[in-house]
Amino acid sequence: MTPTQGIEPPHSSPDPAATGVTGRLAEVRRSIAATASACGRAADAVTLVAVSKTHPAEAVEEALAAGQRVFGENRVQEAKGKFSALKARFPDLELHLIGPLQTNKVKDAVALFDVIQTLDRPRLAEALAEEMAKTGRRPRCLIEVNSGEEPQKAGIPPAGVEAFLADCRDRLGLPVTGLMCIPPVDEEPAMHFALLSEMARRLGLAEVSMGMSGDFETAVRFGATHVRVGTAIFGARPYPAA
Ligand SMILES: *Cc1c(COP(=O)(O)O)cnc(C)c1O
Repeated sequence: MTPTQGIEPPHSSPDPAATGVTGRLAEVRRSIAATASACGRAADAVTLVAVSKTHPAEAVEEALAAGQRVFGENRVQEAKGKFSALKARFPDLELHLIGPLQTNKVKDAVALFDVIQTLDRPRLAEALAEEMAKTGRRPRCLIEVNSGEEPQKAGIPPAGVEAFLADCRDRLGLPVTGLMCIPPVDEEPAMHFALLSEMARRLGLAEVSMGMSGDFETAVRFGATHVRVGTAIFGARPYPAA
């Protein structure tokens, strides 16, 4: 080790690779890999979902050029406009819905998304099952868990997840593969991440989607298989997303 290692040299010009979508994406990937390795997990055990909501298709193109293939959007219409053509050009692109899904948008959502992370109520489960039966297209579904039991927030309360999962799978035949959560903003996320991981393990579900720009490393430590990162890759959103 040299004495100057880790110390920023004076007057260094910014490394162009470290700025912009490409550089930030590399940094997030590096951070996920380092955190995973530090707790004995394989780097490829964690899928980075790049959340491109509100950002233009050009930003998505930049991420695609850097090898990113998994994206998250929170609105069906916006995602349709941005991703229909991109999905044709990049057949291995995987698109996740991470925002609330209204039943009148189920048709479009099933046609467009590869994963629906926000299965949050019985009525939506019914509508998804109906559309999947009709079209034969079966995007995988994650149950959104309201881990903080916040009354204003979507999702199934922890105590109801097992019964909801059974209904979705056994009666409706939905391809439910995991759980997702958005912890309360004012609470330590770690306990929510621990709860979600433990619940997925107990229910035999392989996918656990948790962690955003501010806490994805914590989520990786607690067993996330998917982290949903927007701001740390694409920068501040030009307008509020929800
Ligand atoms: C917007 C959003 C994210 C990404 O948030 P950042 O803080 O920008 O990383 C993750 N998950 C959900 C459900 C979101 O709506």
